[in-house]
This record gives sequence, structure tokens and C-alpha cells, in this order.
Amino acid sequence: MTVQLPRKELFDIPAGVIYLDGNSLGPLPATVSAHVTDVIEHQWGAQLIRAWNESDWMGQPARVGDRIARLIGAPAGSVVMGDTLSIKVYQALAASLELRPDRRIILSDTGNFPTDLYMAEGLLRTLDGDHELRVVDPENVEHCIDESVAVVMLTQVDYRSGRLHDMQRLTALTQEAGAISLWDLAHSAGALPVELTATQCEFAVGCTYKYLNGGPGSPAFIYVRPDLIQRIQPALSGWMGHDAPFAFEPDYRPAPSVQRMRVGTPPVIQMSALEAALDAWEGVDMQAIRAASIALSERFILEVDQRCPALTLASPRDPQSRGSQVSFTCQHGYAIMQALIAQGVIGDFRAPNIIRFGITPLYLDETDIISAVDILQEVLDNERWKQPQFQVKREVT
Ligand SMILES: *Cc1c(COP(=O)(O)O)cnc(C)c1O
Repeated sequence: MTVQLPRKELFDIPAGVIYLDGNSLGPLPATVSAHVTDVIEHQWGAQLIRAWNESDWMGQPARVGDRIARLIGAPAGSVVMGDTLSIKVYQALAASLELRPDRRIILSDTGNFPTDLYMAEGLLRTLDGDHELRVVDPENVEHCIDESVAVVMLTQVDYRSGRLHDMQRLTALTQEAGAISLWDLAHSAGALPVELTATQCEFAVGCTYKYLNGGPGSPAFIYVRPDLIQRIQPALSGWMGHDAPFAFEPDYRPAPSVQRMRVGTPPVIQMSALEAALDAWEGVDMQAIRAASIALSERFILEVDQRCPALTLASPRDPQSRGSQVSFTCQHGYAIMQALIAQGVIGDFRAPNIIRFGITPLYLDETDIISAVDILQEVLDNERWKQPQFQVKREVT
């Protein structure tokens, strides 16, 4: 059974808001509050410590991981939840370097999200000092994959421009050079079809508060290609990744499955918000999401091109080279976005001059897109953004 898009009735989006920031923080699914309240009152409140068994809190990271797996083309049992994406990047990177002990280069690109690069720097500081993080332009990655490279760490969709890497091709090139392929799916999971099994990459990681709507602080996921898991010695060898956490053995012994990538106690309440949020994906075909995302994005770009000459498309024009967001560069982008938000059209701004709009067919339709451009045009034509309150930079942009 596949469902019709959009599924607006499944979300609590405030009246008067057109939400074009689901690439950064997904909106609240309608069933989350009741489910989280139930977990708090009936599980934590009434069952107390018994809930670990009676409500299977212990199984939650794997149970939720299996539901994410379906959305990213991975088999059940290959994905586990926990921690933040930054931590999952660190774990996957550390494991990758251990799998290629004779190689010294982590290859990444300038389109990567800074935390991925920061985590790599931090990891390298704990090693012998002769590893190197090599960061090249996105177009140059393929020319820089050679036999000195241990791991190619890339984010499939560029958070600023929405530029989409060819995951299949780059993974194949990486593996031909004998290196490990690590993909960050932060802006892919729930945004477009991902086929991890077909791609054959070794590792993938991603977050769940963007397109998957798990809420702020919702845990990240990590995928390990099933044939490799027994060879991974987790760098963060926490008790929840132990084969028998409640045996309290003196020494670490990893679980035989992807569960070894767990670290400590999972964020049960936050993950229960994600668990309810994932109901919105039941019966959803990722190919249908992709087709709708492209149709909505193309319409958005066309309308902006015709009506808002101050904006220049910063995303690839070819939809096949673009993720599920559309970005523009413009002068005064921060103030323009603030003025737009004041009118109920919520997108965001990324320094130095990018305004971004997430296109999320789960809860957006063409009427929303046209209305958003109507308001954008009005903000620009009437120079609404010049008002002083829109000039003040807040901490989160
Ligand atoms: C959003 C995002 C992150 C965020 O990491 P957290 O640890 O969850 O804060 C990391 N990497 C990429 C590529 C992202 O897009």
C-alpha cells in the first residue's frame, strides 16, 4: 500500500505558517505529544525501572534503526540509533581508519558540514600524528581518490547549496582505490531515495531531526555494512555496545551485531518522539517523495526566477544534481529571511549570503510553494526587510 502525498493532516503546523525549514528541524507530527506523554506517564511513571524490559526500552535503538533502514535501502539489523550525528561520524571514521591501518589520508570536501570535519580533526589528534585530513573542492574529490586514502568521508547533499554527490559512482571509485566509503546522510534520509545495499558503501550515518521529524535532540543513526560488523573494534566502547551489558564483565567485548555501535544509555523519551514521528513514513514510497520534491522545487525556482530578480539560484539547476532544498544567494539575505519569517514563511540563512528553503512533500503542496513566493516577492518589492528589527543577528540563523 502506498499513500497519497502530502500528508498534512499528520502534522501540527501552526496556522498561517508555510514551513520551508524541514531540512533543518522537521515539524511536530500530530501523534508525538500523546505518545511521548504515554512513555513518560505509563512507562517511566508507572513501570519505573521495569520499563527497560516491559516496554522494551532496551530494544528501542535497534527497533527504530530497522524502521530507518527501510528508508535508506538497508537491511533490517544493519542500523542502530544513539547519540548525536557528530558522535556517529567519529565512530565511523575511527572504524574506517582501523580497517585501513597502512593508509593515512581522510579525504573530504569543502561542501561538508563543519562538525564532520571538526570531528575528524579531533580524532586525528588522538592518533600518531601522521594522519592527515585532506579537504578538497567537491568537484575534485574524484580526482583525489588514490591509494594513499584510507577513507572518503562525504555528505551526500551539501547543506548550503543542496548539491548532490553521485553516491554510487564515488563509492565505486573509492573502493576501486581500496579505500573505505563513509557517507553522511543528514540531508538525504527522508529527502530522497538512498540505496545503501546497492551502493555497497561501508558506513553511513545521519540525523533524524531534519527530514525525519524526530524533534530537537532526536538521536542519530549509524549503518555498518553487514559483512564488516565483526571486524569493527568500536572506538567508543561503551557498555551498551557490549555483548552482555548486564554481565558487568571487567573487559569490553563487543556485541556481535551493529549493536556494538551503541555507546551508553539511549535517550528513551526523545527516541519515543522519533518512533511516533516515523509513523508518518509508513507506506510512503521514497521515489514518490523524490518526484514530488522535484516538481515542487522546479516550480519554486521558476516562480522566484520570474518574480524575484534580486535572488540568484545557488543550487544546481539540474534537479538530478540537487537534494531536497533550494538555496539562493542575495545581498541582505539575513534581513530578507527575517522579514519573510515575520510573514509566516519559515526558511533559514547560512553565512555569508545564502537563504535556504527545504522542500518536504510530506507536508507541502504547490499552493504552499506559490504562496511562499507571493510573500517573498512582497517582502522584496516593498523592501520590508529594511526595517530595523530584521537587521539584528540572533544566535541561531
Ligand atoms: C545537521 C548536520 C550535522 C549535525 O550534527 P549533530 O551532531 O546532530 O549536531 C552533522 N553533519 C551534517 C552533514 C549535518 O547536516
